[in-house]
Amino acid sequence: MERTPPPELFDSHTHLNEAAFSGDLPAVLERARQQGVREMLVVGYDLPSSAYAVSLARKYGLYAAVGIQPHYAHQTGPRELARLEELARDPRVVALGEIGLDYYRDRSPRPQQRRLLGELLSLARALDLPVVIHCREAFADLLEDLGREGKGWRGVMHCFSGTVEQARDFLALGLHLSLAGPVTYPRAPKLWRVAQEVPLERLLLETDCPWLPPQPHRGERNEPAYLIYTAARVAELRQEPLEAVAQATCRNARALFRVDGRPPVSFSEEVRPVSRP
Ligand SMILES: [Zn+2]
Repeated sequence: MERTPPPELFDSHTHLNEAAFSGDLPAVLERARQQGVREMLVVGYDLPSSAYAVSLARKYGLYAAVGIQPHYAHQTGPRELARLEELARDPRVVALGEIGLDYYRDRSPRPQQRRLLGELLSLARALDLPVVIHCREAFADLLEDLGREGKGWRGVMHCFSGTVEQARDFLALGLHLSLAGPVTYPRAPKLWRVAQEVPLERLLLETDCPWLPPQPHRGERNEPAYLIYTAARVAELRQEPLEAVAQATCRNARALFRVDGRPPVSFSEEVRPVSRP
């Protein structure tokens, strides 16, 4: 029997820069490609993980996002912001993130989280980069902070965990919404409604690996090859063909991050010397 190849998918949020992948990243990337995932965004959350995201992007032909999570707001001043800006100017960097507000873990005082968010949003505007937003239990303040600067936001609410009403508010600001493994869980009716209602042209998919594995792999390390489970569940919830969801979410990610669908060549290929006698 002939096997149809898996549809092409774009993993719009990975942490391949985590220690969990340091032992076998080439094998992880190979499995991803076999499952149709050729394009992956590696996302930083502080300066070291952002710098490493850029170097992995160069080495393996991936895309990078650089950012500072709200947890580190109390340790972030002008010097750290200047270093982040320097990293953000690398041609492999296609977004500023992750940035945002986290009132679930509350590791930095909330006013400092909002101060840092404001600074990073201004930086994203200045560099004309889309934003990758992390938000946990802080939707009202986030809406207020984004709304203050108008509606024309280019960016994505990553691993969206809000209600369908909150989803509408972020869509109205111009943002995309990204769904991850939790939409495959057996008791996630709030996320299922979001999956059903987001306009297809505003939807992205992600693994957020090594965290949040989809249902068949719960308890394991997540990886980009498992994105297909999330894609399939979203297609099922929307009653649309998997192929249509895959195509649209790839197209959306490419447009948002302004990449053309041909994964960048890796650094080793770029610098391969041409030696002729
Ligand atoms: Zn993340």
